Amino acid sequence: MTDRRTELAENLARVEDRISTACAKAGRNRDDVTLIVVTKTYPASDVRILSELGIRHVAENRDQDAAPKAAACSDLPLTWHFVGQLQTNKVRSVASYADIVQSVDRVKLVTALSKEAVRAGRELDCLIQVALDAESGERGDRGGVGPDGVAALADAVAAADGLRLGGLMTVAPLAGQYAGRPRAAFDRLTEIASGLRAGHPAAKMVSAGMSSDLEDAVAAGATHVRVGTAVLGVRPRLG
Ligand SMILES: *Cc1c(COP(=O)(O)O)cnc(C)c1O
Repeated sequence: MTDRRTELAENLARVEDRISTACAKAGRNRDDVTLIVVTKTYPASDVRILSELGIRHVAENRDQDAAPKAAACSDLPLTWHFVGQLQTNKVRSVASYADIVQSVDRVKLVTALSKEAVRAGRELDCLIQVALDAESGERGDRGGVGPDGVAALADAVAAADGLRLGGLMTVAPLAGQYAGRPRAAFDRLTEIASGLRAGHPAAKMVSAGMSSDLEDAVAAGATHVRVGTAVLGVRPRLG
């Protein structure tokens, strides 16, 4: 266990260094970028160590794994992000522990999240997941709404009881015009985000960048990076 603690501390220090360096290069304050550690597939004991090491934001992508983990860690001062594709039948559970849902990509999900947030007496921050590989009116392979669907969905979140519009999220696409070009993808996300803020000034979060491309995200102006592998190690497949 102490070995795991040392390993996580060293990995975190390396990631912290990468974020600081990227911020310095971009002329940004380190405080303007929040590190979210994606703990999917790793046990609650790792989440506990991360909390002891000062991490305040963690993310999960599957309700089946996240719900028991969040329950086991409910004594910790953590903000829980949900970043996975979300089925409406999981919304009641997710709304009970998640503080921020980053993968909002359809009106049906907004309706369900609103209902369950109100029922639980909670306020959920929602990010619209943008699929930069989706054609007009489509959803992306890994979830997300195409850029032309963002405005309507954002309005729906902003109007829904129990929900707050936090901003936008994306995953660098594997296909389409942005495949292999994370910087260009994240620049596009930032551009869509500034358009969104014209109508929703409080929607300031821009969540982009993972272990392999967090520098691109920081350079493009992301406010939140989501890092799994670089902190916790390579996941067994099915992460
Ligand atoms: C798993 C995951 C991450 C973290 O990916 P790594 O490459 O392990 O850093 C970030 N965002 C989402 C949506 C994920 O599912």
